[in-house]
Formats: sequence, C-alpha cells, structure tokens
Amino acid sequence: MFDNLSDKLDKAFHILKGHGKITEVNVADTLKEVRRALLDADVNFKIAKDFTTKVKEKAIGQDVLTTLQPGQLLVKLVKDELTELMGGDVAGINLSGTPSIILMSGLQGSGKTTFSGKLANYLKTKKNKKPLLVACDIYRPAAINQLHVVGDQIGVEVYSEPENKNPVEIAQNAIKHAKANGFNVVIVDTAGRLAVDQEMMDEIARVHKAIQPQETLFVVDAMTGQDAVNTAKAFNDILNFDGVILTKLDGDTRGGAAISIKSVVNKPIKFVGTGEKMEAIDVFYPERMAERILGMGDVVSLVERAQEQFDEEEARKLQKKIAKNEFGFDDFLTQIQQVKKMGNMKDLVGMIPGASKAMKDVEIEDDAFKHIEAIIHSMTPTERSKPAIIDVKRKARIAKGSGTKVEQVNQLMKQFDQMSKMMKMMQGPGGKNLMKMMGG
Ligand code: GDP
Repeated sequence: MFDNLSDKLDKAFHILKGHGKITEVNVADTLKEVRRALLDADVNFKIAKDFTTKVKEKAIGQDVLTTLQPGQLLVKLVKDELTELMGGDVAGINLSGTPSIILMSGLQGSGKTTFSGKLANYLKTKKNKKPLLVACDIYRPAAINQLHVVGDQIGVEVYSEPENKNPVEIAQNAIKHAKANGFNVVIVDTAGRLAVDQEMMDEIARVHKAIQPQETLFVVDAMTGQDAVNTAKAFNDILNFDGVILTKLDGDTRGGAAISIKSVVNKPIKFVGTGEKMEAIDVFYPERMAERILGMGDVVSLVERAQEQFDEEEARKLQKKIAKNEFGFDDFLTQIQQVKKMGNMKDLVGMIPGASKAMKDVEIEDDAFKHIEAIIHSMTPTERSKPAIIDVKRKARIAKGSGTKVEQVNQLMKQFDQMSKMMKMMQGPGGKNLMKMMGG
C-alpha cells in the first residue's frame, strides 16, 4: 500500500539529506518533488498545491533553515499536514439509536456487501452488538445470496424479501423485525450501479429518507483514484453522508483517494478494507496512515493487532510449559497461528518502521508459514513434544512427508531451538526486564 508514494517522498527528502547546507532553494526543490509525488499518487492538483504551500509556510515559520536537522523537521511537517489532510482525528461511528441504523451506499463492485459483513462482524465481536444485515438490492438476486453467504460465515442473521421489489418497504420491514427480535444495529446494504445514475440516486435517497439512518456510509474502491473523489461528491450531494469507507487498500499503490476525499467532501474516512476476508477491516487513523505513507511504519496498529490476538489463558499455559521445559512444536504451531490471525505478512511488514523500504524487493509470500506448518504437520506427536529425538533419519522422513528439503527442516529445528532458549531466558531472574524491554 502506498509504496510508490512513499518511495517518491523518500527521494524528495533525499534532496535535503544530500546537502550539507540547507537553503531556501533546497527546501523549495524538495517541496516541488513532494508535490510531484502527490500528483503521481493521483492526489487532486489543487489539494497537492495547497499542501505544499502550507508546508512551506510552516517550514519558514519554524525556521527550518536554521535547525540542526531540517530534513527531519520537514518530514514531520509533511506528516502533520498529511494527517490533517486525511481528517486529523479518528472519526467514530454513531451507534446511539435503538436500533442504530446504518445505511451503506456506493457503486456496484466497490465492496459494499463485503464491507457490510465486515462491519457486522466487527460490531458483533468487538463491540458486543447484535447486528442484523438487510439485503436491499432488488435487481440482482445474486447480491441477496452473496449477503446470505457472508451472514452465514460470520453468524449474523440476514433479512431479505426476494419477492419484494420495493427497497423502502424491505428496509422498513427489516427495522420492524429488528425491534421485535432484539437486534440493536441494522446494516442496510443497498443496490449499486456501475456508474452514478439518476435512478439509483433517487432510490437510495428514498430509502435514506424513509429509514433516517444514524450513519450513512459511502463505500469506495481506493483503486479508482480520482474517480473515487468524483463519485464521493455525487453521493454526498444527494445523501450528505456521515463517513467514507475506503476498500481494497491492500491492492492500492497510489493512495490518492485517501488523501483527497476528506478535503473534497469534508467527511472523514471511518474504516478501511484491506482484504477479502471478514477480518480485513481497520479503523482509519489519519496519523498512522500518514506515518505509513511516509514509510515511518505503524507500530501502534501492529501492537494493537497483537494484543487483540493475545489470549491470557493461553499465555499462562505457555509460560508453565516453558518453565517445565515442555515447549514443543505443537506450541510453536499455535504461536504461528496467532501471528497469522494478525493479518497477511505483507501488511504486517508494512507496519514496521523502515521495513517496507528495506524489503521492497523481497517477495513476501502471503502464507509465509506454509513450509513451517507443513514440516510440523509431518512430525509424529512424540516428535512434536520431544524435538530432541529428531535424528537424521527422522529429518529425512519429515522433509519427504512435507515436500521440503532436509535443509529446511534443519533450519526450522535451529529456529525452534533459539526460540526455546530465548523463552527460557525470559523466565529467568532477568526475564522481567527483558519482557518490559519488549513491551510486555
Ligand atoms: P458490492 O457490489 O459493492 O457489494 O461489492 P462486493 O462486496 O461484492 O465486492 C466486490 C469485489 O471486491 C469482491 O470480489 C470482493 O471480494 C472484493 N473486495 C471487497 N473488499 C475488498 C478489500 O478490502 N480488498 C480486496 N482485495 N478485495 C475486496
């Protein structure tokens, strides 16, 4: 995500780094490069221009030319300004109604149905809500089915009336159903078209007026760049929506939409979609996103994701095992599965400061643990709990069974050994400090 923009901004800052002395000309050159990078990332021309003008004014105000590390100061100013451009503070979602009604809008293919499912899952698992999904697409029976499939997947009820051709009625009936059955959030998925057209706009406006949602969300595909901004404007004119959902950010290398949308419609981006799975949803944090664009990483999100997966009961069991020297490959497998739940490797690497730059030429497999898992699965239960018995003969059998090479098995054994030793160390007298150092 944002790789190109990060790269270009990095080059822009290099202009400053390369010079022993910073002059007003260098700063102007750097900012010109910054502007070019933003334009290349599909950021609206006027926004890019205003952006660099503002940064320049601030830079001069803060006397960037006389500070010790002008490059860093400029990076900070650019970061602050990017944050501001993307919305400043985190925007929450209004769940005050009984039930709270959320209306989803957007073009066909933008990821509305997928996001409706993700949001329902998020509200159910993270906010302890009982959501009801409503299928209001009366044109494509497949869309209704798709929502049912999503609902089944996450264990959320889906309300639909396949024979009814009046979306206003369906939405109203769904709300009645929700009230009668104790649902406290109603998420209404509506019909989209491939492009903005009057009929679609009229229809969603009617639904909007009839159900008076607490939240009207506009879903947009981040890969559509400038078009995303135009579509957002068209929908906002009709619905005056409350927030934007930017989907498919996992595939976006330009990122211009995230940067422009807030300033064009003056509505915050509330969530982002980062994959096809139901868990691929993130609250949008402007500051973290700015840091990510600038290649500063997003450690906070990384730690948060780790904490979400952290199971205290499991951790205690693990600690006992380590203390008794019983840590085995099955535990190792559990650990890997926890890491995997945090997201795909590419995404995780992108959150580590500097890592996306350092690893940009390294091909990261989506399932980087595939081989490790295969190797462990080829071990017998005894081998997993007592790795010490794994000799040369056993290694050859494991490699064959897992479709890997003996070297790979050896490498895993070595990694496992190091990890066990480190864990053992953390248990010792100095361990508490070590844990603290690692943020534990
Ligand atoms: P709708 O027509 O607006 O309801 O769009 P869908 O929810 O059917 O999504 C269209 C396609 O985009 C589907 O193939 C989804 O799997 C895919 N999709 C949705 N959100 C994301 C996302 O965040 N990342 C990726 N990579 N694909 C997504």
